[in-house]
Amino acid sequence: MLAAGDIEWIFRGTVIKPHSRRSVDICEDQLIVVDKKGYIAHSAPAGGAESAVVLDLVEKGEVAKDRFVELGADGWLLPGFVDTHTESRIDRDPNGLGKRVYARLVQRLLQNGTTAASVFGTISVEANLVLAQAFLDAGIRGQIGKVAMDQHSIPTYIETTSSSLSATRTFIERMRALDAASQPLVEPVITPRFVPTCSLELLRGLADLARETGARVQSHMCESEGMVAVCREMLGGKSDVEVLDELGLLHDRSLMAHCTHSSAPDLALLARTGTSIAHCPLSNIYFSAERQLPLREAWDAGVRVGLGSDISGGYRVGLDENMRWAVGVSRLREGRRAEVRVGGKEEKSKSLAISWKEAIYLATLGGAQALGLDRDARRVGTLDVGAAFDAQWIEVGGPASRVDWFDLEDEEGGEGRRVTTEEKVEKWWSNGSEVDRKAVWVQGRRVYSQ
Ligand SMILES: [Zn+2]
Repeated sequence: MLAAGDIEWIFRGTVIKPHSRRSVDICEDQLIVVDKKGYIAHSAPAGGAESAVVLDLVEKGEVAKDRFVELGADGWLLPGFVDTHTESRIDRDPNGLGKRVYARLVQRLLQNGTTAASVFGTISVEANLVLAQAFLDAGIRGQIGKVAMDQHSIPTYIETTSSSLSATRTFIERMRALDAASQPLVEPVITPRFVPTCSLELLRGLADLARETGARVQSHMCESEGMVAVCREMLGGKSDVEVLDELGLLHDRSLMAHCTHSSAPDLALLARTGTSIAHCPLSNIYFSAERQLPLREAWDAGVRVGLGSDISGGYRVGLDENMRWAVGVSRLREGRRAEVRVGGKEEKSKSLAISWKEAIYLATLGGAQALGLDRDARRVGTLDVGAAFDAQWIEVGGPASRVDWFDLEDEEGGEGRRVTTEEKVEKWWSNGSEVDRKAVWVQGRRVYSQ
């Protein structure tokens, strides 16, 4: 156990713990201790023997009072949300307008409980560095992409093949210099916008650059009927999935947004190569209303999937609405199960619909897995011992909260029926908003509070 001087925070109360079985456990009266480096040193029931030692330190005043947080009867901790696909493009005046927009963006992300985000920036190296600095200043994790494209775009927003490759290389070097920590908060991502806007030469060059530098890769893939048709026409009948794979852009550091038109062989390929999917249900309703991501089938195939807001493809910053839409569209798919199931046999017992608990997993640990943030020492996405403390504190029932509940009196003078913690969490999941979010931490640092 840590000495009092090594303790940064102690939390007592309900903790929502995502796990790799793709759901969450709701654990009441837990004790979490965070060390000075921002890692979880202890996570166990508050009534246990080791927890008693920690509580004793608090009792004796050896840990400062403001470092001990009681989460309250109507409060809980859960990991921060990981937004696997957002877009933020400021083409001009990066140091003026850009700074203002990006500062607002990171503030909105934190208000909404997002502690890590993968972002499509713009083609400008300078603007993307301003964006990365905004993430650093706010203390939020960012995987920032300099968009690359050399064809089929407007004349004022396009690069040549060689300038795109050299600017991407410069961007990676400058981003890494901006945050040279061994586990950086912000990281550069190689970002071909999507196949129709990139020549094969550019895609090949970006794949080589990813291999050489170890940088992650992100793009959009089989997003809509129109995009699938355009790709096949341009690529001599091949799909964008096949071409990205042939060029070596699908691997375990790759993240592909949307993938709504994935076939069963596509999902098997993504699983085999370790490629992740950013699922953006609200955006998909606008841009590919004809089809939604085969999420259950992707999970069954073994693909890592996270949730994305795709602002401004979707209208809501943050993941709360997207968790709800993920459940909603999966229920519609279940309603049309025989018609929409991708691959495999009809199994009466296995629903295509996902539950609200699966949606919380998707928005937290699922996203961290999709961004590879769970794989190194940070182990983002859980609140287990050893993980970086990226967390949000929710407390419902305040005057502006949209979450209401009523305990039932027993008519015969008994104890009645009290609303359980799990029921309160589900009510928050359904109706909660920013007003229920008391504070947010990244790597143990409190980066937002109200
Ligand atoms: Zn997008």
